[in-house]
Parts: sequence; C-alpha cells; structure tokens
Amino acid sequence: MTTSSYPDTRLLIANEWVDAASGKTIDVRNPATGQTIGKVAHASTADLDRALAAAQKGFETWRDVSAHERAATMRRAAALLRERAPEIARLLTQEQGKPLAEAKVEVLAGADIIDWFADEGRRVYGRIVPSRNLAAQQLVLKEPVGPVAAFTPWNFPINQIVRKLGAALATGCSFLVKAPEETPASPAALLQTFVDAGVPPGTVGLVFGDPAEISSYLIPHPIIRKVTFTGSTPVGKQLAALAGAHMKRVTMELGGHAPVIVAEDADVALAVKAAGAAKFRNAGQVCISPTRFLVHNSLKEEFTAALVKHAQSLKLGDGLADGTTLGPLANERRVVAMTKVVAQARERGAKIATGGERVGTAGNFFAPTVLADVPLDASVFNDEPFGPVAAVRGFDTLPEAIAEANRLPFGLAGYAFTRSIKNAHLLSQRVEVGMLWINQPATPSAEMPFGGIKDSGYGSEGGPEALEAYLNTKAVSILGV
Ligand code: NAD
Repeated sequence: MTTSSYPDTRLLIANEWVDAASGKTIDVRNPATGQTIGKVAHASTADLDRALAAAQKGFETWRDVSAHERAATMRRAAALLRERAPEIARLLTQEQGKPLAEAKVEVLAGADIIDWFADEGRRVYGRIVPSRNLAAQQLVLKEPVGPVAAFTPWNFPINQIVRKLGAALATGCSFLVKAPEETPASPAALLQTFVDAGVPPGTVGLVFGDPAEISSYLIPHPIIRKVTFTGSTPVGKQLAALAGAHMKRVTMELGGHAPVIVAEDADVALAVKAAGAAKFRNAGQVCISPTRFLVHNSLKEEFTAALVKHAQSLKLGDGLADGTTLGPLANERRVVAMTKVVAQARERGAKIATGGERVGTAGNFFAPTVLADVPLDASVFNDEPFGPVAAVRGFDTLPEAIAEANRLPFGLAGYAFTRSIKNAHLLSQRVEVGMLWINQPATPSAEMPFGGIKDSGYGSEGGPEALEAYLNTKAVSILGV
C-alpha cells in the first residue's frame, strides 16, 4: 500500500495546536511522488512571542516538578510513542521518504531515548564539598539552564528532536523547537505524546516557518537560555556566532565526513555488511554515514566488488511499498547535489562502479552509487555528500589511512575494520572523531555520548554529558550563624 492519510500541521503553543496568526502556510511534499500532501503553519514574530511567553511559564512550572514525577511523565510519553509507532512511522515515510521499516525503528528508538533520559534525570546529583571552615557547608547545586531553543533537521525528524528534548525535559528545562518544515507531521505527533502524557502548558512548544528568521529572533531573545542545533556546518557556525554574541549556552551537532578504514587484516565480508548497510541507510542522509572508504590496496578489488553487489541488491522505491530497502532522497536539492558530486568525481578520474544517476522522473530517486579509485580532489572526498554515494580509494599503510581520515576539518564519526588489537588501539587513539565504531556498524545508544569535534561541532547528545549541557552549576556556601 503506497497511500495513506497525512494531516496538516499547526503550531504547538501552551499545549494548544494553533494556526499561524497570519494564516500563512507552507506546502509539504512526498519525496517519493513529488505530490503536495499537506501544509504546515508558518510562524511570524507574533506567534514566536506567544511561544516564548509560554516557554517561560512552562519552565517556571516544570522546574518545580520533582525529578521523579518528571521521569514518570516522560515515560508515559515514551509509552504513547511506542503505541502510536505504526501510524507515526507512516507519516514519517510519507514526508521524508525512508523505508517504513527504518521509520518504525526511528520512532521506537526515540521512545528508548526518552526512557533513558527520563531515568537519568533522576540521577542529576549535586555535591557536598568539605569546607575549610567547619562551620560552613559547601554545596554544588545543579539547576536547569532555562527555556531551550532547538533547531532540528529533516533527515531524522523524530530522533533529532528526542535527543535534545529528552535531555532538556529530564533536567527541568522547557523546550521550544523549530522542527523541519519539510517533515512536520511526525515531530507534531511526537510532541502530542508529551501533551497527552500531561506536561504542563509551555513545557514543550513547536514552531515552523522561515529557519533564518526564527533563529535570528529566538537565539538573542532574553527568555531563551540555551541553543541546540543539528544541521550543516556553515549554518551551525552562523548560529554559534549569534549565540556567542548573546552569551547563550550552545550544543552544535553538525556535518561529518566519516572515514571507513578497512585494514589489511580486516574481515572484508563484515566490513561490507556493516559499513555498506550503514552507507545506504536513510539513502545516505545521515550525519554519521560512512563516506570515505579507505581500503588497503591488497583488498580494494574484493571490497569494491562486494560493495557494488550490496548496492545492486537494494530495492529502490516508495518507502511505503513492500520490500523497499532504499527510499527517495528527502528533497530535490539532494538529487541536484548527488548529480553534481558524481559528475565532478567522474571528471577528476573516478570510476563509476555502479549507479551514478537519477532514476525515473517522478520523485527524488537516485541509484545507490559506488565510486572507485576516487582522487583526493574529488568533491565527494572533501564535502559531505549526504546521499547514497560511497567513495572508495586504496592505501598502503595504516598511518597513511589515519592521516587521510584526519585530513578534513570534520570529526564526527569514523569506522574501522581490523582483526588486530594493536591496530584497533592505534585507531582508537589517533582517529580524530567524536565517535568511532570498530568492526561494527554504528550503534548510537542513548547511554553513549553522541557528538563531534572540529568542524562537526561541540557538546554531546548522549550519555550523562548530554544532561550537563542543560544544567547550570551553582556553588553555595552556608555559614551557620
Ligand atoms: P541547509 O544547510 O540550509 O539546512 C540544514 C538544516 O538547517 C535544515 O534543517 C534547515 O532548516 C536548517 N537551517 C538552515 N538555515 C538555518 C538558519 N539560519 N537558522 C536555523 N536553522 C537553519 O541545507 P539542507 O539542504 O536542508 O541540507 C543540506 C546539508 O545540511 C546537508 O548536505 C548536510 O550536510 C547538512 N545536514 C546535516 C544534518 C545532520 O544530521 N547533521 C541534517 C540535515 C542536513
């Protein structure tokens, strides 16, 4: 079945779904068909002012709810999300394109992340520090930073929100998110679970509109105390600069360009299975997607042939259709970008081992692509492709591969395959990334830190570090009188 109902999306302000004050809307398209399937409300400053006032009130209420009760509310939302996963996944696939099975995994993983943050929020402990003056008691208190402005992208409409929302709510912050205009209905369904779970009005809010207009209004606004963004490095740098000018706390989860090092002693079948599957998940529109496949020259032919076979085994189609394993790209911009990336690599001398072209005329389908013998000056080896294109080149020594892995300004995720503990140790020490997976696909769980270094941003969206980003530390010393 490839049709399903799809709702229009409104703004969420103080637990009410409302149209934009101006009545303005933006069309939403299904990337598999190119058809308009719905509309989303376009907020103006008047709507943002109401959302901000609600976020301030929501903060004042939510911070005074006990951590125990906050956790219980969040767990109720996670349970509702699980219960509604089949319908929410259908919305997600229609607006974003990914195969339904991947959409379901995303929604269920979202519920798991919320549960983890709910529990972790009960363990936000301060400290008692022995005082030099025995008459004084020294306390270190952890307090919520305040109303949060979040900006999230279209590649994982649910999960890009829950990592931020989970940490914010667990620590007692209120949370106002500008979610992606291209994929608005699944974020709305996510926030509805929190409303239904009983969060006080203003604890969560959802707006859409012009991204630059909204961020330039919210970030400097005195009500907002923390900014968190996931998206491209150029936009992240602009927003971080604006937040810096207004001294706001910031978390930035930006672009990557993940190297995959396949060492001379690697299990090639495992490398292809793990990194190949990761490459084409969500049609490669993943910040931690494997991108530069650096393969020892003795294994290069075997590896490339196996990766081509894997790419050719994928079933490209509408994400709602049975058996689809690779959906369309989420928007037309990505098809244009992929066409350019492949043409430029070919010009520089890369071989197109499979794929390389748009498929069909309706929808944003692009064939799973493997480029072989890619020269270092091909743009695919330098700029994040964010699409279903794998680029392979050989190396002779492991230090050479590590130097290539570290050559780019990005440092988000990395992958390596080796049977040697010595190599694994060297790789874990020397590869400049925030997350490294050795002999396996990415396994980003809520309890592990998630984030990058260098131009890939700063801060973490997993593990206890994620909560720290939403907390102020206050030193209190009480002298008995
Ligand atoms: P883009 O760079 O314009 O937008 C990326 C995201 O940032 C979108 O969600 C957009 O709504 C938002 N955005 C853009 N300008 C903004 C602003 N001034 N204030 C607030 N938010 C703003 O381009 P795009 O075509 O949507 O995506 C292209 C590139 O973005 C991709 O090639 C990829 O590198 C990167 N991207 C990264 C992630 C990620 O998970 N890190 C997700 C989506 C896109």
